Amino acid sequence: MTKITVATGDGIGPEIMDATLKIMKAAGAQLEIEPIEIGEKVYLQGNSAGIAPESWESLRRTKVFLKAPITTPQGGGFKSLNVTTRKTLGLYANVRPCISYHPYVATKHPIMDLVIIRENEEDLYAGIEHQQTDEVTQCLKLITKPGTEKIVRFAFEYAKAYGRKKVTCFTKDNIMKLTDGLFHKIFDEIAQEYPDLESEHWIVDIGAAKLADTPENFDVIVMPNLYGDILSDVAAQITGSVGLGGSANIGADYAMFEAIHGSAPRRAGQDMANPSGLLLGAIQMLVYIGQPKIAEKIHNAWLRTMEDGVHTYDLYKEGVSKEKVGTSGFADAVIERLGQKPEKLKSIVYSVDTTHKIQGHYTKAAPAKKDLVGVDIFLHWNGEERDANVLGAILSKFKSGPFENKLITNRGVKVFPDGQPETFCTDHWRCRFTTDGMDEVGTYKNVLELCTLISEAGLDIIKTENLCRFDGEIGFSLGQGQ
Ligand code: NAD
Repeated sequence: MTKITVATGDGIGPEIMDATLKIMKAAGAQLEIEPIEIGEKVYLQGNSAGIAPESWESLRRTKVFLKAPITTPQGGGFKSLNVTTRKTLGLYANVRPCISYHPYVATKHPIMDLVIIRENEEDLYAGIEHQQTDEVTQCLKLITKPGTEKIVRFAFEYAKAYGRKKVTCFTKDNIMKLTDGLFHKIFDEIAQEYPDLESEHWIVDIGAAKLADTPENFDVIVMPNLYGDILSDVAAQITGSVGLGGSANIGADYAMFEAIHGSAPRRAGQDMANPSGLLLGAIQMLVYIGQPKIAEKIHNAWLRTMEDGVHTYDLYKEGVSKEKVGTSGFADAVIERLGQKPEKLKSIVYSVDTTHKIQGHYTKAAPAKKDLVGVDIFLHWNGEERDANVLGAILSKFKSGPFENKLITNRGVKVFPDGQPETFCTDHWRCRFTTDGMDEVGTYKNVLELCTLISEAGLDIIKTENLCRFDGEIGFSLGQGQ
């Protein structure tokens, strides 16, 4: 018996969870269930993350969470339960297989069998956002070495364990050279450790276009959080329905399994929703907890149900499908087929080997020599028709150590010195204090002194960012036009 924590969620959640649990029970899964409540009701009781403190106790005990989708109430003050759970439990890897079941499920992409491995904790989902001026908001994008090493290694380990041939990486490192650039660089380095696996990188825009057009060319795809979130929905949808997507969220000690879709409130309580996404998530869970043969039995019965054309409304198509069923009818159809295998679709084999817990580790590198070569001071400034030359003249008075104002940008574009008159300016200015060669080293005291001078002159400082070299390498981007 394995203890698991189960939450039935909101909207279609309770119906698809009922179906999933019923199928697992009929297949002989050895589970001891601890139910917890999450979602809308818990949010509205005043828990801003949608989960009560005592529910964490259950998760700490079982370390395995089967979760139905929830509804996040609209409006400020509510934090995403999914993001909170993933980050609190360190579930850094999100595994989303997207497979076509042609000709039994209508799809424009008959040959498609890929797995999206999405980084799950970082990127823009750090949730660090600020309104900085009247006109400007910002969201901090964090890509870390440990986070990237773990997810990229996980992707290669996953490919190896599941006999896949190729790992593809998507980033936007032509624009975000430091953050996405780090992700790409680490991908290239780790790929060298897996000479038996093919590896490739695409810029995410053309990569996404290729994924939507010729998904048959992809196998395992690893991505930072935001691209993975968006593209795994696209990939699941083009297999036939987002209702077919199941996902595993894996960490070093904990794991959470779910459907990729949401709570579909408009379909709730009508016995209509497709439970396949959650069921396929639960199958990944059975493999993870060491019950691979039960997982295999359910997966093959499910494939047979697909093949027999027994479909819920989202998949049902005249001429392709044979029988339209509701959520509970679909569960019964899968249960009837337990012990059977698909006749045409490839049947599934999960072995003890696939149950080994795939993990991605990282190696802590020795710290680099870090030199402070300047500071970006961000100002909220509304003066003199937003003329950068006026601001430049004001800032030219302030110097500390080797640092003086060399550059002003607005939304990243150089506006001083020698800006272009056409550039539209907001009330948000990044003022770079450094030396010409950006190689003279100053101290944080210089930064503080500059801030004091600027603030005493009545200017509104939003924040500062230190400009550093790491082992001599520039650790910041240049202004556009610099
Ligand atoms: P959704 O995934 O709930 O629905 C999108 C579309 O897909 C709808 O047309 C829906 O009817 C259909 N659909 C989804 N699941 C289906 C299924 N199992 N069977 C058949 N059709 C299905 O996305 P949404 O409408 O953007 O979000 C609804 C709510 O879900 C929101 O409150 C959102 O915050 C939440 N949400 C939760 C999760 C989660 O808990 N993991 C994930 C995404 C969205």
